[in-house]
Amino acid sequence: MPHPKTWLKVCPQGLYCEPGGFFIDPTRAVDRAVITHAHSDHARPGHRAVLASAGTLALMRARLGEGPAGLTQQALGWGERLRMGEVTLWLEPAGHVLGSAQVAMEYRGSRAVVSGDYKRTPDPTCDPFVPIPCDVFVTEATFALPVFRHPPPDHEIARLLASRALFPERTHVVGCYALGKCQRLIALLRGAGWHEPIYLHGALAALCAVYEQQGVALGELRAATAAAKDQLKGAIVLAPPGAITDRWARRLAEPVVALASGWMRVRQRARSRGVELPLVISDHADWDELNATVDEVGAPEVWVTHGREEALIHCITQRGVRGRALRLVGYSDEDDEGLSEEAAA
Ligand SMILES: [Zn+2]
Ligand SMILES: [Zn+2]
Repeated sequence: MPHPKTWLKVCPQGLYCEPGGFFIDPTRAVDRAVITHAHSDHARPGHRAVLASAGTLALMRARLGEGPAGLTQQALGWGERLRMGEVTLWLEPAGHVLGSAQVAMEYRGSRAVVSGDYKRTPDPTCDPFVPIPCDVFVTEATFALPVFRHPPPDHEIARLLASRALFPERTHVVGCYALGKCQRLIALLRGAGWHEPIYLHGALAALCAVYEQQGVALGELRAATAAAKDQLKGAIVLAPPGAITDRWARRLAEPVVALASGWMRVRQRARSRGVELPLVISDHADWDELNATVDEVGAPEVWVTHGREEALIHCITQRGVRGRALRLVGYSDEDDEGLSEEAAA
């Protein structure tokens, strides 16, 4: 049985499956790309042929436009097997955002799984993570430090609604990344009984529409820019993180500034951004979820793509799992958790 390191290689463009002839989430334009999910650091424009879940392809078309989202696009259903070169490939949900997938590959009896970004906490806007037993598990490590333990999201939503009850005249503006976090917040609010219209910054509307087209109901959404200041009293407004404290927010009525991100665990990050109500809601696995997932897939070897690899590798090595830091460049562990300025775009 060939070890996955002989057929799944780290190249300047990213991970390359040699006997299959394709890259996974390449950071430069390539001929054949398999894309785990539509976040901008994983789904770059300009590939010739793109294979992904239907949800990811729809989000890529909305973000990048037809053409840049792949000259040819092929959708693969969950668990559907496809032969590519000498490799059998399939996708299973990663539970990160709508359409997010793990890529499973089998070559001559040897199996590798690339998780992409993932989480294990249930999310009403995407299919739940499916553990796949494998020989090599390729994992992210965005929050791979013991300090990162995400509280239950319902708990954070309850804190937001409690603040709204305490300050019923003030606008609650919540900074959130446009793809995934925004729609998850809306769904969590609906689940917690918030049935008022939710107001959106213009940058968030298009991807909400894709979610609705893909069957994720979000309730009544309105454009924040079209609303009078009086209408926004007591309203919940969602906006990109870059907008919550800038000039755009002046239209809001005495805003309570919140930000939803796994990084809100770090108080200094909240304070430095002028965030009054930090909400620790993350679309990435926390320390416990990363470790539990490594144990569950039972791989004797784990490769870490991006994030804080040292702590995770140290910890799994003590349990007899071989760890390897891939040091792939071009992935950001801050963008999709809403902290870079780029996230406002
Ligand atoms: Zn992501
Ligand atoms: Zn990522």
